[in-house]
Amino acid sequence: MSRETAFYLDSQTPRIISQCEAMREWVQSAQRAGKKIGLVPTMGALHEGHLSLVRAAREECDACVVTIFVNPTQFGPAEDFEKYPRDLQSDLDLLAPYGVEAIFAPSPPEMYPPGFSTYVEVEEISLQWEGASRPTHFRGVATVVLKLFQVAPANVAYFGQKDYQQTLVIRRMVKDLHVPVQIRVCPIVREADGLAMSSRNAYLSHDERQAALQLSRCLKKGEELVGQGIRSSAEVLTHMEQTLIASPLVQVDYVVIADPETLQPVEQIDTRVIALVAARVGKTRLIDNAFLEMPESLPS
Ligand code: AMP
Repeated sequence: MSRETAFYLDSQTPRIISQCEAMREWVQSAQRAGKKIGLVPTMGALHEGHLSLVRAAREECDACVVTIFVNPTQFGPAEDFEKYPRDLQSDLDLLAPYGVEAIFAPSPPEMYPPGFSTYVEVEEISLQWEGASRPTHFRGVATVVLKLFQVAPANVAYFGQKDYQQTLVIRRMVKDLHVPVQIRVCPIVREADGLAMSSRNAYLSHDERQAALQLSRCLKKGEELVGQGIRSSAEVLTHMEQTLIASPLVQVDYVVIADPETLQPVEQIDTRVIALVAARVGKTRLIDNAFLEMPESLPS
């Protein structure tokens, strides 16, 4: 048996890799054995949203690498890096039924050794919305994602629409820097009552959990109004904002109806648009989004 085949077959239970070099060797040797590799980058505290990406990677690729790394560079100084939920054992238990071939769980110094000083800035698309509220966030995201693409040079990488602006930032970076990876974006997974799944939902108290529903309700309201043929963004946004602030626990950061490629606000809805929302519920900052579709019977 060749070394390459051995690498692949030896991975029936997931191998947990913490060193960058070992991770790259594993991916490259599986690829030399003809395997198409899917990569699912996460910060752990896994839920059904993450697992939907794992399922997509398992279906479309021959082997799947899940990365679990709470990336310090994408958190602002006043944000929740320290208290972000970390439970590797529970993540491994959740992944167990999926037969994931490898899990990459590096330490912060493995990813950012002393002297680290190179960052990726994706201009334009990073500046507004999440980028305006969290000025260094996308720089940290782009940097760590490019590093993960270098360390685990997969064929396809899976991301969630939940972080819609992030998917645009990553697509832009991959294009601009000629990174040979295909990007797949998977739909938002929601709780039965509509709340978008997020590791940060764990921070919510009982009352905040109820109040958090206003985000998905506000998007539903937008879908409903645009579905009825209303074309004025201002009119739709007024109703969306009213829905969002129906709970006193919700503090709006932004609600916008935008072009899905540029994220520039649109005034008149005459094609498919995206609604993005960000709000604080108590101390927890949540985001959500939805495409708003014109009814097919109306001409655009
Ligand atoms: P995170 O661990 O929050 O960095 O998320 C890792 C990946 O999972 C990102 O691509 C997210 O967009 C994706 N993700 C997070 N929540 C959801 C969700 N509710 N539905 C689908 N994908 C999600």
